[in-house]
Amino acid sequence: MEYRPFGTTGLAVSVFTQGGMRFLHGWDAPHDVLPDDSLENVRQVLNASLGAGINLLETARGYGKSERLLGRILPTLGRPRESFHVMSKASPTPTAGEMRRNVEESLQRLGLSFLELYALHGLNTRADVDSALAPGGCLEGLEQAQREGLVGAVGFSSHAPTPLLLEAVASGRFAFVNLHYYFFKRENRPVLDLAAALGMGVLILSPNDKGGLLYDPPPRLRQLTAPLPPVHFNERWLLAHPAIHTLSLGLSEPDHLALHLGSLTPLPYRGATEEAAEKRLAAAQEASPLASCGGCQACLPCPRGVAIPDILRLRHLSETLGMTAFARYRYELFDPADRWMPGGKANRCDDCGDCLPRCPRRLAIPTLMRQVHAGMVG
Ligand code: SF4
Ligand code: SF4
Repeated sequence: MEYRPFGTTGLAVSVFTQGGMRFLHGWDAPHDVLPDDSLENVRQVLNASLGAGINLLETARGYGKSERLLGRILPTLGRPRESFHVMSKASPTPTAGEMRRNVEESLQRLGLSFLELYALHGLNTRADVDSALAPGGCLEGLEQAQREGLVGAVGFSSHAPTPLLLEAVASGRFAFVNLHYYFFKRENRPVLDLAAALGMGVLILSPNDKGGLLYDPPPRLRQLTAPLPPVHFNERWLLAHPAIHTLSLGLSEPDHLALHLGSLTPLPYRGATEEAAEKRLAAAQEASPLASCGGCQACLPCPRGVAIPDILRLRHLSETLGMTAFARYRYELFDPADRWMPGGKANRCDDCGDCLPRCPRRLAIPTLMRQVHAGMVG
């Protein structure tokens, strides 16, 4: 296992993180009831991941039973507390005091007296960012917990558009960011660059599920990345970037770990095989009129909340790489009222034309939105 300094937090983290989002029955209500088979699943998964050298566990207040499951199993594993780091997260709250209480509750559930990392979970909207950073806002609750020695470094995760992410990073008040950035979604590259310049730790969220449903790739994608399986291609592409420190894998079965460990060799992460696969993917993607959308996001905001660049990206992946199941899975989640997938589907477009003069590629966005929606739901 390789370890990297997690920005300037003083921690050395394994390049894989054990995510705590997908434990067996982990989302079933009630969340304070911990079935025996869930506990056994967590025990097996943690034994495998910690045994392989993973030293960062990631969970959240909002991950169902996750904090409680970890709290029950961690003391039974016989591993010294200093041999692993724990990150938890909590959704933004209106006040600092409420966030401070979230930290206390995380500690109680996890059965720990200190968390090396704590994040605001989902700074997704303008209102989230403004209220978190305001005097008396929830970030102050984490900073208070930090002064009290309850948490080490403070960071955030987000599904926000790139400009808002850049603003949050540029505030200088976060030591790390949990980022959505993958080979198949690269708009957040400026966020990665700014985080690197500021010495922040960077954790990549869900690289293979939200990063492309790569556990079950379509034949066309397999062909283009061969001899590397798409999971290896994506993980090696990410790990080749020195500003990326760890990839969070939501392992739900101990056997799943072997696939990921295969991404770690041979070194370097980017060699002739990876470059050739990348060229084939680029050539396949360029062969589509939708390739002219550069994902610049200048068309936003759309008054109807249509998630224009993301929608075009998904359509492009479906058309050129056969990633239709992934495109439909993500498209279905768009909902302007949802904090986690902010943005509307293409059928919300009412042809107002506002986006047209802002698009540097002069794309016929309203027409494309009609076509894409028909393709996604058809
Ligand atoms: S034309 Fe459609 S996509 Fe463009 S800004 Fe108007 S509603 Fe949004
Ligand atoms: S402005 Fe045009 S090129 Fe940029 S993301 Fe929007 S549609 Fe794509």
